[in-house]
Amino acid sequence: MKHKLRTLSVTFLTLLCCSLLGAAVLKEWKSGIAWIEPVVVNPGDSTTPPSDAIVLFDGKDLSKWDAGKGWTVQDGYVQAGGEGGITTKQSFGDCQLHLEWAAPAEVKGEGQGRGNSGVYLMNRYELQILDSYENKTYFDGQCGAIYKQYPPLVNACRKPGEWQSYDIIFTAPRFCESGSLKSPAYITVLHNGVLVQNHVEIQGNTFWASPPSYEKHADKLPIHIQNHGNPIRIRNVWIREVQALPSLEKKEKSDNSQ
Ligand code: MG
Repeated sequence: MKHKLRTLSVTFLTLLCCSLLGAAVLKEWKSGIAWIEPVVVNPGDSTTPPSDAIVLFDGKDLSKWDAGKGWTVQDGYVQAGGEGGITTKQSFGDCQLHLEWAAPAEVKGEGQGRGNSGVYLMNRYELQILDSYENKTYFDGQCGAIYKQYPPLVNACRKPGEWQSYDIIFTAPRFCESGSLKSPAYITVLHNGVLVQNHVEIQGNTFWASPPSYEKHADKLPIHIQNHGNPIRIRNVWIREVQALPSLEKKEKSDNSQ
């Protein structure tokens, strides 16, 4: 018994010594990068945009858009009509875009002819809007698809007439002076809060009649919402311009070893 107690005491003391020694030797690791403090943003709630967002449509008017004739604002939303889509007056590059939309409650047509619209980032890269609730079409043309490039990971469509949301993270392509592609565009999309595009590489303009291809363009371009002849409704559109992190500076080692 006495021997056992002695053994236990020795073990405990050994562990204690090791812990103390470890604490004395271990040192916190720091990256050495002098990050700039992130700006404070009020995130709002599910019905209001973040404090640094640019509100593109608040349900009242289309003053931030060049609008096709026939689009009508009523009851907090705008409804597609007439000919032509709506295009933001302001241009954007890298961004976070939120919008809500509803396909017509009265179901008409099928496939691509039912609740068709689309969000064109930089006026050329289409994220498809379509009533894909129990409505089959080609998969890379259904709701949440990057048109004719990627089908959505899942079909998260709500019923016709119900409000749906898109939350889009978009990285614009970069071009060399010569016009060649330096880096492609990337897009991530949440449809009704469900991930449907996960940082996919956009392969170029999304055409109907030809394969995707890039053509050098400005760093920032307008956002366009398609009028495909279906009375789609849009509300709550806001955007945040995304900046790259400020250039990094290595601090002197001595600053970090405190
Ligand atoms: Mg479309």
